[in-house]
Amino acid sequence: MDINTCHRAKLTIAYYTYWHLCTMLLKEWVDLQIPLLAPVYGIREARNIIKVWLEDKHGIRNLQQPTTQAVSTGWQLDMAKLLQFEPVQYITQKAFFFDHWLYVDKSVLIPRPETEELVQLAIQHFNSSSSPHILDIGTGSGCIAISLALALPRAKVSAIDISFGALEVAQLNADNLGASIHLMEMDFLDERLWQQLPSFDLIISNPPYIALQEAAQMEKNVIDHEPHLALFPKYIDPLIFYRKLAQFGKNHLSPGGAIMAEINSAFGNETAAIFKAEAYQATSIIKDMHGKDRIVKVI
Ligand code: GLN
Repeated sequence: MDINTCHRAKLTIAYYTYWHLCTMLLKEWVDLQIPLLAPVYGIREARNIIKVWLEDKHGIRNLQQPTTQAVSTGWQLDMAKLLQFEPVQYITQKAFFFDHWLYVDKSVLIPRPETEELVQLAIQHFNSSSSPHILDIGTGSGCIAISLALALPRAKVSAIDISFGALEVAQLNADNLGASIHLMEMDFLDERLWQQLPSFDLIISNPPYIALQEAAQMEKNVIDHEPHLALFPKYIDPLIFYRKLAQFGKNHLSPGGAIMAEINSAFGNETAAIFKAEAYQATSIIKDMHGKDRIVKVI
């Protein structure tokens, strides 16, 4: 075949591939992609992920329309990431939390439904006209602090994190959602820094709480892609944050105030014991929607 014939043949193939794509409905295109993801995710989850990707990345909900070149080429790149267990939220850079869309990237955890339950509990603790001072420790994407600031417009919400990258994400989310929160870079485990902080009516946190020995059982999407700084406490003790919270609360909880923190379900009793050993009025462990110990509430 001479060069010209070869070139013409290539053009013809490209034209027919493009033509075929344009005449293919998205619904059919999705059906063709599912088997590619299914070996990793199973058919149901594969379909869900593709739908989330289409909706959150391309704003497409209606699958009864022709497939576009943008969808098809974008998918080739992102499918490779999904096959490496990258969570779809990092690919679309969007996560839905407590009625709001948040920007997320790999410097923050993807907010979980269990943490929505923590936010709900905190909101119920106050009435909408109260003006509590709130501190969120290890704010990450800002999901807790921002949701509280929006639900309790009179609240004064401060949030700290050790990670500058996380603080940038939290600030972006606060700006996007019109939430007023005060962000500070701080290593909460360093007690010498606590004097910079006043007292609060609510101290809330979803700290890193995964024990190192749990790493082997963790899903690849979490262990390979989410920030270890937000999952594993810096020291070997998985309860270090709760020990520090119990100490911090002694001098930084206003009268009538509360501490609420997400916990590792494997350490419900141990976490409660830390607060019970201090002079707090009452400590309770609250279960999540799966019936697992998930929140410690201290008053
Ligand atoms: N809930 C997260 C997980 O299961 C962990 C969050 C945390 O360490 N605070 O992966």
